[in-house]
Amino acid sequence: MRPPRFSARTEISALKPYNSGLTLEDVAARVTSPRVAKLASNENPHGPNAATIKAMTDAIARPFLYPDPSGRMLTGEIARQTGSPASRVILGDGSEDLLNVLARAILGAGDEVVTLFPSFPLHEDYAIMMGANVTRIGLTPDRTIDMTALLAAVAQPVRLTLFANPMNPAGLWLGPDELEALLAAQHPESLLCLDEAYVEYAAGPDFASGAEHLAKHDKPLLVLRTFSKAYGLAALRIGYAISNSDDVIRSMNLVRTPFNVNAVAQAAALAALTHTDSKEQAVSYTLGERARMAAKLKELGLRVLPSKGNFLFVDCGQPSVEVADRLIDRGVIVKPWKQDGYESFLRVSVGLDWENNQFLEAMARIL
Ligand SMILES: *Cc1c(COP(=O)(O)O)cnc(C)c1O
Repeated sequence: MRPPRFSARTEISALKPYNSGLTLEDVAARVTSPRVAKLASNENPHGPNAATIKAMTDAIARPFLYPDPSGRMLTGEIARQTGSPASRVILGDGSEDLLNVLARAILGAGDEVVTLFPSFPLHEDYAIMMGANVTRIGLTPDRTIDMTALLAAVAQPVRLTLFANPMNPAGLWLGPDELEALLAAQHPESLLCLDEAYVEYAAGPDFASGAEHLAKHDKPLLVLRTFSKAYGLAALRIGYAISNSDDVIRSMNLVRTPFNVNAVAQAAALAALTHTDSKEQAVSYTLGERARMAAKLKELGLRVLPSKGNFLFVDCGQPSVEVADRLIDRGVIVKPWKQDGYESFLRVSVGLDWENNQFLEAMARIL
């Protein structure tokens, strides 16, 4: 018997499956090198500290209880550290969950959404899922953020402007003055959402977080953060958002599933926020390795975009899918970019020194 056919909403048929990258298991059969460097998903290879692992172990001993549906302990700590009221903090099953919740809470057919390009695919996918129209603001010809186009776009009464700062995959970012210009240009009826998944790697005088503006900005603003990157908790799935608007948080709370963040993730995130020394060490290690990798890639004659993330966006000058395939044979997993116009770019995460060396040596041989 043929399985019965059934069609989804028309918006869904426009979506492509998310490219989550290869796992270690996926490539194990092909790889002959003794160790595989997984540099495709911007994880923190140092992982969480002992206090965080202890908190997880303690929490998993009571799996029969539902988690706190509003994650009060954790939202309280986030509020304390960021200076926002806890009522304006919302937790998600990863920040991806919050992107999905946001789209379902505020977007409808025909709504206008602005994003930077090349982009984190989910920023577009969830908007498309809701039937919204997405406008991409591409980079300038010399591959910088096109501020003129961005400021013009956000001045329109679009429903939502959403992008990552620092950008994924490009690594580019808005400086403090550019962020201020963006906030000033924002149309008062539209929501500005800054996805700050890489904020911990970006700190410095040439970067400003949207969180610093929450208390004084008079237009709707939402800042997304995650424990998946610098905090090393990608497997647990936990992120959060902070807004200056009670309406935005209320509508997201109505749409999310009530127990969207499990108890182990809540406990781990709380411990990770209160024991931050290992995170700081991991970040400074990564920044050192990022500079070293960028310099070596440039020595190979490759164009590398400036990056404030824990990754680099590299122009291979040839189809990156093929380069990535040959890297797998040498025990290195990276992410070949597939969006229009960026097919010669790959995104490589900054890993441990041996992983980065394995990547750099393989690149030197392949090119
Ligand atoms: C990695 C990443 C996320 C992460 O999401 P989680 O669901 O919290 O793991 C969100 N946004 C961007 C831009 C990312 O690169």
